[in-house]
Amino acid sequence: MLQLNQPIASSHVGSFPLPFNQQNVARALHDMMQIGVTYPPYPQLRDFVSTFMHSLVKKGILQPVSGAFIVKDLRAFEELHKLEVSPPEEAVQSIRQASGYPLRAPLTGPVTIASEMYLSSDLSQKSWLLARKDLVLGPLAEYLAKYAESFAKLGYHFLVVDEPSLVVILGKRISMYGYKQDEIAEAINKVLKRASTSLKGIHICGILPPQLKDILFSLDEVEIYDHETFDTPKNLDFYTRRELEEHDKYLAIGVVSSKTPKVEDFKEALKFAEKAVERFGDRVVMVKPDCGFFGLKWVYGSKGEMVIDVEAGYSAALSKLRVVQSIALELSKRLAH
Ligand SMILES: [Zn+2]
Repeated sequence: MLQLNQPIASSHVGSFPLPFNQQNVARALHDMMQIGVTYPPYPQLRDFVSTFMHSLVKKGILQPVSGAFIVKDLRAFEELHKLEVSPPEEAVQSIRQASGYPLRAPLTGPVTIASEMYLSSDLSQKSWLLARKDLVLGPLAEYLAKYAESFAKLGYHFLVVDEPSLVVILGKRISMYGYKQDEIAEAINKVLKRASTSLKGIHICGILPPQLKDILFSLDEVEIYDHETFDTPKNLDFYTRRELEEHDKYLAIGVVSSKTPKVEDFKEALKFAEKAVERFGDRVVMVKPDCGFFGLKWVYGSKGEMVIDVEAGYSAALSKLRVVQSIALELSKRLAH
């Protein structure tokens, strides 16, 4: 049986719409702990691919280009598994600040990282790193496993591999690039295996394609599946309770949107959570926003138009987390009776 710090825990995927600096990292973590989020993440205020790749840019192995990276030194990239890693600075800062409060460590997965990398500057599909299965599932996955290990060493409780781009290589591409489902699962397992955190999960948002199921159920290291469900309720049809029981897996369900700044009414969000609990019973162990709040940089203006306002977006993010936490408390209270 899963051991959580609260019968139905609350968490957050990771990001906020604040500029990246130490003050804002401290502020976001402080606010999440104040709200009482059971497993707050180290706040992700910068891009979740470059967070793990900027040391390779410094070493000259990668070169950043508009929204992507080019592998400049293929030789060195092939030997990534030999490099040492240091955990991201915001992760180190957060664990100090939390002083014992259990934290979630988001770690971007190999497929998602590779989906933003190219082997030549033409950025064509042919030079996409994803086409080099050997590099993605080998050295890159092993390199990320070292980050997993470093999070566990720092004292993180809940390690979550974020793989939103996994859906990109499913369907036609999986055969085009020669990926086998069990090989992908093995690579993600390899990343998680290096970490001795008490909880491990995977976050995949968007619509879950049926081909994903075999991969997810082959992730022996994962206990918690974290998906987008509030904005994409049909993702709740992806699993059956029985399947989850048979594979001994649990769900972290999205009970508020990460896309719209409109703060959900507590009752409406609770109703959604109740439906999921009715359906999956004790397999629902965590509630959270669908995804990160990185995109919540805008709010509705007085005429209903969209206005860029980072502070207002951040404040909406916190209000949503308050709704999430109230739901976690309400559902936990019911379980106690
Ligand atoms: Zn997501």
